[in-house]
Amino acid sequence: MPEGPEIRRAAARVAAAIEGRIADQVFFAFDRLKRFEVELAGRRVDEVTSRGKGMLTRFEGGWSVYTHNQLYGRWYVMRSDRLPKTSRQLRFAVTAGARRALLYSASEIEVLDREAERQHPYLSRLGPDVLSQAPGADELAARLVEPRFRGRQLGALLLDQGFVAGLGNYLRAEILFEARIHPRRRAAECGEEEIRRLGDRVIALTRRTYRTRGITLPASRVAELKTAGVPRSAYRFWVYGRAGAPCRICGRRVLVEPIGGRKCYWCPSCQPGRNGTAGLHPKRPAGRRGQ
Ligand SMILES: [Zn+2]
Repeated sequence: MPEGPEIRRAAARVAAAIEGRIADQVFFAFDRLKRFEVELAGRRVDEVTSRGKGMLTRFEGGWSVYTHNQLYGRWYVMRSDRLPKTSRQLRFAVTAGARRALLYSASEIEVLDREAERQHPYLSRLGPDVLSQAPGADELAARLVEPRFRGRQLGALLLDQGFVAGLGNYLRAEILFEARIHPRRRAAECGEEEIRRLGDRVIALTRRTYRTRGITLPASRVAELKTAGVPRSAYRFWVYGRAGAPCRICGRRVLVEPIGGRKCYWCPSCQPGRNGTAGLHPKRPAGRRGQ
């Protein structure tokens, strides 16, 4: 599933095409939304923004179209007299002047007034969105030690959209690696310096991924690997998807285990466990793990 930075990029592309313009034509595929085609046409598109993995297209008058791409949704931005060549199903489209934005294949589309947006089951539970709401590192550090969050395993907590919106499986692993914190530790067990570092890395890696289109390795490392002829798939991440491969810092083998219901990757020596131990599951030696 795309993570926050990918959705944010899509929102920026759509915004560049239709934000601030009058919607000449609005299309919805679903019968339950057809009545909004007339309601929204002729209104200005005030804003196109992202919240976590969802997107909001706000129209003047307080209406917002909430869309969630799930796995298959895809946005296209085109000249207003064109349609993309695709076998996907068109679900939502806004034509505004010379440009149009079209959403294909997404199934989660709702039209919300302000009150419905406030009470929306997904939107109302979201934590701060690093890219669209720009919380500070201090704010995130303070959030980490709040009673409702401090006792939870960090690997699982970072996937919880109620903690911070927009982080997904690769970002949480990469954030914890750069923060040098084991994914099974809890904020309650971390020192102040670690908490501060973690808040800082949540912001830095989310922003970096937005800029680099999904690469979390720092630019200098990427440049070295590219020069060595390594393909993109092998220079994107520190640890994500690299189980059994040597850590890029220390050479120990990267470990993987399900945490928060999904595979989590970490380095047992760069991210030591609670008592400085390599891992919290000694019965599975690192050397036996495959990809
Ligand atoms: Zn390491």
